[in-house]
Amino acid sequence: LQAVNKVGYMNGILLKAIAGFYYVEAGGHIYECKARGIFRKNHETPTVGDRLEFDELEDGKGVVLKILPRKNLLVRPPVANLDQLFIVSSHNTPAPSTLLIDRLTAIAVNNNIEPIVIFNKVDLGEMSEWQSKYQKAGFKCILTSGINGDGCEEIKKFLSGKVSAFTGNSGVGKSSLLNFMFPELELKTAEVSDKLGRGRHTTRHVELYSVCDGYVADTPGFSSLDIERTMPLKKEELPFVFPDFSDYLGECKFTSCTHTVEKGCAVLEAVQRGEFELSRIESYKAIYSEIKDIKEWEKHKG
Ligand code: GDP
Ligand code: ZN
Repeated sequence: LQAVNKVGYMNGILLKAIAGFYYVEAGGHIYECKARGIFRKNHETPTVGDRLEFDELEDGKGVVLKILPRKNLLVRPPVANLDQLFIVSSHNTPAPSTLLIDRLTAIAVNNNIEPIVIFNKVDLGEMSEWQSKYQKAGFKCILTSGINGDGCEEIKKFLSGKVSAFTGNSGVGKSSLLNFMFPELELKTAEVSDKLGRGRHTTRHVELYSVCDGYVADTPGFSSLDIERTMPLKKEELPFVFPDFSDYLGECKFTSCTHTVEKGCAVLEAVQRGEFELSRIESYKAIYSEIKDIKEWEKHKG
């Protein structure tokens, strides 16, 4: 991002927002900014991750003038313009859920976010079958350990130049991975917070940290439920956010094929031939019927 734009205002990225102050990074400096009243009037809120135009004042502080167009927006916790979502599962405690992974990858793709599937705790057991399953489905996939650091260099390479966040069930090792890579973030892992007797993820604010020439959200508290609620999928879009469908789309007998039950469906035929991962089509069908039901329910309600 160019720090100074053509009319002489600055462009930066919002790293954190606290009590009416916005901390905007531009050209390696962090500017403490206030926002113009116009935002409140328009019910707009600068959100962490936003690209902002601001005016630098003489005291080195700034005034936010404009929120540049967003690529995507997650409401809870609030963060804008994510480039990548690391979806973390673990060998065991808890074991991977294909439905959860498939749901999250679909939502990410749908919002222009690159999903990267991580299988953690490989020190506890072999996970290469999981990796090949997800690579075959068209995703980047890394095997990691938050204990011995396996795969962490690979994660760091992906972080470069991007805004990223981590999600996945509680206990899969998100904080441990982030702590291993970036001890300076001092994120609380389960053991630590148990000792302190505090609830986890009590704060819902996000802060972006500069790491590896990119930014990572400091919180491992992006729950899949929050992501699902704020970035809903439409059933018409679903086939296009399953990259493994792409070879078959357009090949079905009926153009209106939903790829769930139809005769002559190219995807279902590929499943029959054993060419298509069974758990992936199961997830697709489950998500499809859920979305369909919500629509019907809303119609009855309205
Ligand atoms: P989070 O809820 O996803 O942030 O998970 P935590 O990072 O708090 O980890 C949950 C538990 O799993 C802790 O007891 C960690 O020590 C343990 N853990 C995390 N990563 C690994 C790993 O790669 N291997 C093993 N064996 N344990 C891990
Ligand atoms: Zn079909």
